[in-house]
Amino acid sequence: MELRLNSPVGNLPAVYYWPLCKKKGYDEAKEIIETIVWGCSDIPDLSVPLKKNILHDVDVTSYESMKALTKRYNKAINNVLLLEKGTQKFCDRLNRVASKELLRHIIQQTYSAAVTDAEELNKYQAFSPDVYGETSFDLITQMLDVIKPGKDDVFVDLGSGVGQVVLQLAGASPCKRCVGIERADVPAKYAKAMESKFKFWMQWYGKRYGYFELIKGDFFHDAFRDKFTEATVIFVNNFAFGPAVDHKLKERFAELKQGTKIVSSKSFCPLNFRISDRNLSDIGTIMIVSEIAPVKSSVSWTGKPVSYYLHVIDRTKLEKYFQAKKNGSLHSLFAEDAETSCDSFETDNSRENGDKYLNLNAPLKKRGRMLKPPNSSTNNGVEINGEGPAKSIIRPGKLVLAHSELETLETTKKDKKRKRPVNGRPRN
Ligand code: SAM
Repeated sequence: MELRLNSPVGNLPAVYYWPLCKKKGYDEAKEIIETIVWGCSDIPDLSVPLKKNILHDVDVTSYESMKALTKRYNKAINNVLLLEKGTQKFCDRLNRVASKELLRHIIQQTYSAAVTDAEELNKYQAFSPDVYGETSFDLITQMLDVIKPGKDDVFVDLGSGVGQVVLQLAGASPCKRCVGIERADVPAKYAKAMESKFKFWMQWYGKRYGYFELIKGDFFHDAFRDKFTEATVIFVNNFAFGPAVDHKLKERFAELKQGTKIVSSKSFCPLNFRISDRNLSDIGTIMIVSEIAPVKSSVSWTGKPVSYYLHVIDRTKLEKYFQAKKNGSLHSLFAEDAETSCDSFETDNSRENGDKYLNLNAPLKKRGRMLKPPNSSTNNGVEINGEGPAKSIIRPGKLVLAHSELETLETTKKDKKRKRPVNGRPRN
């Protein structure tokens, strides 16, 4: 015994089998009703019949009642298609982006149909990088609001599980490409089913989605090296990855393009990271990190709000550090500290103001107290020795400095010894 729901844009019908599935967290009868409501949502002419007639007097426990419901709905849709097909009105309805709430419904029904035994996803080795957990639709919506990806962006989810994050990006963002890579067998198997169910439902509603791939494999495999370098937005739910995997990821991140954004559930460098001579090989020297304010129900494993972190690759940070050192401007700027050390460099860390974004264009200051305004031609410029932008040669595992930078560093160290500040002001 089956129940068919015709597509509101004339694509293949959806078929449900009686008895309908009802289990913890999923009620197929409810899904059918919601799907009918969403199916009519783009057709204003159906809003009155939907309330007065189509959804009238339905007993979801009775096959006869549900069959009669689908019959009324299909008849209404067929009439609309007969009148509208080929008209401008019909074309206008086709291939639009799904609204946020419709996409939420589509991803939910995709998941319900594809992940037939969610318990299977919980079978992983405890305290290993394979620990499974899902990021919520709301958190990804929030991430999209923050990063606002454009049509030239390439999104990659490292360890994509069943792929719902990638599907949300494909349905909600204009990204050129959305890619997920997942190593574990069970989530990768479900990701295949998610892919086909998602495509089916998006077509059923006549909604647009971008190109996406859900790949089975280890994201550290050489075959996926270019996935890192092509990416402009990387998402990684690394909460349980552990230090070894996080370290390897940082090595890969050293190869990312300038401006690449990384959103993760555990930050890859401290929020208050400051460059100093002691941490020049740290990934924090080439990224700006901030916290995305936690939302409720961010993840599947806890109801508590969980923070996510946004990192933006910015190599000018390192260049500015060396520039400031070369010019000795760290002395003049941080004179009160110069007696002891001038090897810490900090841009306006607005963390003190409750805002965790670093502002590289703001005046340099130390411990929240600025002694002298910066000379814009020195502190904010990236030229070293008038030879154009300084280059940091960045290789996996190690941030190796260009020869000119090392020279600059050495000269600055010598200068520092020679030019001891007197009474808190540097000698000229
Ligand atoms: N990204 C999804 C989300 O946030 O909803 C799933 C996150 S889940 C916590 C992390 C996933 O990363 C697991 O499914 C695990 O198998 C996968 N993973 C861990 N190391 C991996 C690797 N080297 N290559 C591919 N996947 C990996």
